[in-house]
Amino acid sequence: MVAIVSPSERECERCGRRDVWDEDMNTWRISVEDGEKRSGNPHCLHEWDINGTFNPLAE
Ligand SMILES: [Zn+2]
Repeated sequence: MVAIVSPSERECERCGRRDVWDEDMNTWRISVEDGEKRSGNPHCLHEWDINGTFNPLAE
């Protein structure tokens, strides 16, 4: 049996955008904090803090 490990949230190191993982939809959603969307800069080439370390399959 293989356990699938995925990050539950990610944050852009450039503009501060924050996403949370939606398990039901299998997609990232923009995080909402204090009623405000953390959508960051729409023109940003997001640099996610999980880049390079995300391994979907745990050994
Ligand atoms: Zn960004």
